[in-house]
Amino acid sequence: MACSANSEKRVKFVIVGGGIAGVTCAEQLASQFTSDSVVLLTAAPLVKTVTNFKQVSKVLEDFDVEEQPSTVLEEKYPNLKVIQSAVKSLQAKEHTLLTEDGHSFNYEKLCVCSGAKPKLVTQSNPHVLGIRDTDSAQEFQKRLSTARRIVVVGNGGIALELVYEVEGCEVVWAVKDKAIGNTFFDAGAAQFLIPTLAQDKPERALPCKRARYTTEPAADGAGRSLASGETGSALGPDWHEGISLRGAQKGSHNVTVEYQCGVESISTQQDTSHAPPAGQSQSPKEGTWPVYVQLTNGKTYGCDFIVSATGVVPNTEPFLHSNSFAVGADGGLLVDDHMRTSERDVFAAGDVCSAGWEPSSLWQQMRLWTQARQMGWYAGRCIAAEVLNEPIELDFCFELFSHITKFFNYKVVLLGKFNAQGLGTNHELLLRCTKGHEYIKVVLSEGRMMGAVLIGETDLEETFENLILNQMDLSAYGEHLLDPDIDIEDYFD
Ligand code: FAD
Repeated sequence: MACSANSEKRVKFVIVGGGIAGVTCAEQLASQFTSDSVVLLTAAPLVKTVTNFKQVSKVLEDFDVEEQPSTVLEEKYPNLKVIQSAVKSLQAKEHTLLTEDGHSFNYEKLCVCSGAKPKLVTQSNPHVLGIRDTDSAQEFQKRLSTARRIVVVGNGGIALELVYEVEGCEVVWAVKDKAIGNTFFDAGAAQFLIPTLAQDKPERALPCKRARYTTEPAADGAGRSLASGETGSALGPDWHEGISLRGAQKGSHNVTVEYQCGVESISTQQDTSHAPPAGQSQSPKEGTWPVYVQLTNGKTYGCDFIVSATGVVPNTEPFLHSNSFAVGADGGLLVDDHMRTSERDVFAAGDVCSAGWEPSSLWQQMRLWTQARQMGWYAGRCIAAEVLNEPIELDFCFELFSHITKFFNYKVVLLGKFNAQGLGTNHELLLRCTKGHEYIKVVLSEGRMMGAVLIGETDLEETFENLILNQMDLSAYGEHLLDPDIDIEDYFD
C-alpha cells in the first residue's frame, strides 16, 4: 500500500509493534482475512518471527525466534504491509493513529503491542545502561570489551543471564533480596545455582536450538540503528549467544554478590564531593574509576559502568495522551479476557498490557517471550471473533503458567505457582536436590500440586504439568513423590 505523508489511509486492521506479540497477531489476522488489509506499524527496522514452533506438552511450548526484514512477512501475506514508523499519537474515539513521519491511519480494529522499556535506576545518566533491544546489547558489548569492573543492579532474568555470561571482567551484583534470582527462584534454588558462579564457564555452552541474535547490519541495510528515543523489540532467550560478552581482563567468572541492597547514589570521579576518599573503594590499588556506586548497605564500588536490570515499564506513552485507557497497577494497558482495552476497538497484547481478567488459580502474568506469543495469537483470534460476531473463550494456555528457559547453563522449567505465589502459608514444599545436577521443587496445597521448579534435565515437566492440571489429591504419596527410586513418570502414566 502506497502511503504519502499527511493523507489518511483507511485500514481494516492496524497492529503496532514488530515484536513477537505484534507479529503473531498480524500473521493471525492476515491469514484469516485474506481480502482485508492489515498494517503492522513498527519503530524497529527488523521484525521478530516465531519459527519451529513446537507444542512440547499441553501448555509447554518451545520455539525459535528470528529477526527478519519486513519483506519476509509481506511475501508470506500479500495483504500485510509492514511500515517502519513510530506511532506518535492515537485518537481512540476517532479510530485514528498518527505516526512520527506524518502518516495517518484510520482503523477498524487496532492492537497495541508496543512492548516495554527498561526501568532504569536513574534516567539520562551516560554511565547507566539498560539492556532491551539489539542496539542496547551492542552498546553493552562495546563498553564491556574495555571494562575491568561493572556493577549489575537487579535480580530478574536479565541480571541472572548477564552475571553468568560476562567473562574477563569483575562483576559486582547488587540484589535487593536475600537470594539471587528472586523473580524465578526461592533461596534453595539460588543456593543450588550459586556455586556455578565460582566456576569457569564451560569453553562452549551446550548446543542451543534457539535463534542467535546478530549484531551485524543486514546486507540490505535493514539493520540500521534506531533513532535516539525509538524503541526496538525486546531481546529474548539466548540474546547473548551470538555476541562476545568479554571484558578487558583474563579469566572467567569473577562475581561478588551484594545482597539486600540497592543504589543509594551514583557519582563520577570528577564529582569529588561524592567520590569515595582514597582507600574506600573496593580495589584502591586500581586507581580511579569513571563512575562510583554507593549501595544502600554503605559500600561504595568504583566501576566502568552500571547495568540497570531492574525490570521494565510498559511502553504506553504515545497511546495514553488524550484517551481514557484503564491502566493496570504495573502501568500496562488493562485488557479483559478478550484482550480488549477500555477504549472501543483497541486491543493490546504482550509486554505493553496488563492482564485484567480474573486469572486461573495456576496462572500469572509475567512479561516473557512465551506470553507475548500467546497473547498476540489470542488477541488476533479475539479481534477476528469480534469482527465475525462469533463467541470465543479464554484460551487454554492461560490455564497454567509455564516457562522453559536456561539459567547458568541449566535447563529451567517453571510451572504454575512455582514460587507459591498467592498461597500464603497454605502450602508445603517438597524438594529434591543433587548438587551440580538437578534441583526439583514441588509446591503442594491441600495435597494438590500447585506449581513446580525443575532445574536440570529432570524429564519431569510433562508428568508434573498433568498432575498440576488434573489437581489429583497426592496426600497419600507424601515425600515419596520425589523419591529418586520411584519412576514417577511411569507411576502416573
Ligand atoms: P517487544 O518485543 O518489545 O516489541 C515491541 C515492538 O513495538 C518493537 O518492535 C518496537 O519497535 C515497537 N514499538 C515500540 N513503541 C512503538 C511506537 N510508538 N510505534 C511503533 N512501534 C513501536 N523472555 C523470556 O521468555 N525468556 C528470556 O530468557 C528473556 N530474556 C530477555 C532478555 C532481555 C535482555 C530482554 C530485554 C528481555 C527478555 N525477555 C525474555 C522478555 C521478552 O523478550 C519479552 O517479554 C518479549 O519479547 C515481549 O514481546 P512484545 O512483542 O510484547 O514486545
